[in-house]
Amino acid sequence: MTTGDWIDVSVPLRTGMVHWPDNPPVSIERTQDIELGDVANVSKLSMGAHTGTHMDAPLHFFQKGQGIHTMPLSVGMGLARVIEIRDPESIKPEELRPYQIRRGERVLFKTMNSPRCWQTNDFVEDFVYFSQEAARYLAAQQAQTVGIDYLSVGGFTKDGVETHHALLEAGTWLIEGLNLTNIEPGIYELICHPLKIEDADGAPARAILRSAESTAK
Ligand SMILES: [Zn+2]
Repeated sequence: MTTGDWIDVSVPLRTGMVHWPDNPPVSIERTQDIELGDVANVSKLSMGAHTGTHMDAPLHFFQKGQGIHTMPLSVGMGLARVIEIRDPESIKPEELRPYQIRRGERVLFKTMNSPRCWQTNDFVEDFVYFSQEAARYLAAQQAQTVGIDYLSVGGFTKDGVETHHALLEAGTWLIEGLNLTNIEPGIYELICHPLKIEDADGAPARAILRSAESTAK
């Protein structure tokens, strides 16, 4: 049996796209343009580090935490499990427990965010997030990598700080801003690496998945 094709689960970056309300807007503009007589096209990128599909480093919430450039390559490369969450409000420990997440696992969570939140350039405030209780549960399971399908693992009005603290403190690396619309729950090969920006609190990433079900059986 052949494994499937690679599927892109990252969000395209473009001027005017959605971003966290108090983060910088996204602007991609040509500073040199062949059409205007320049010999080459050159773009200037301006955006927050936590825009689109990106990863969080411990430094995002801890002043002495590690920067994104220190992330072990294995965090973003290897088998990953995609789990589908039904709860329309938040991810809670009760829904997580039956999956028996193990130490070192890479786990990506597909919620209602995927088909709902990426359709608009407006920020969606009531996206599905990890309750702080769920974050503490995942931290205790010692997952290596946790992914979510909107701009934060924590909620907009609650559990933003607590959820990040619990996961980052436990050494779990976070992928945020995934679009898992076309992904069924299951086992996949994951490749997701952030840009190597020195001592950055986060960085944009490209994330791709390929089904590993046929090789796992
Ligand atoms: Zn974050």
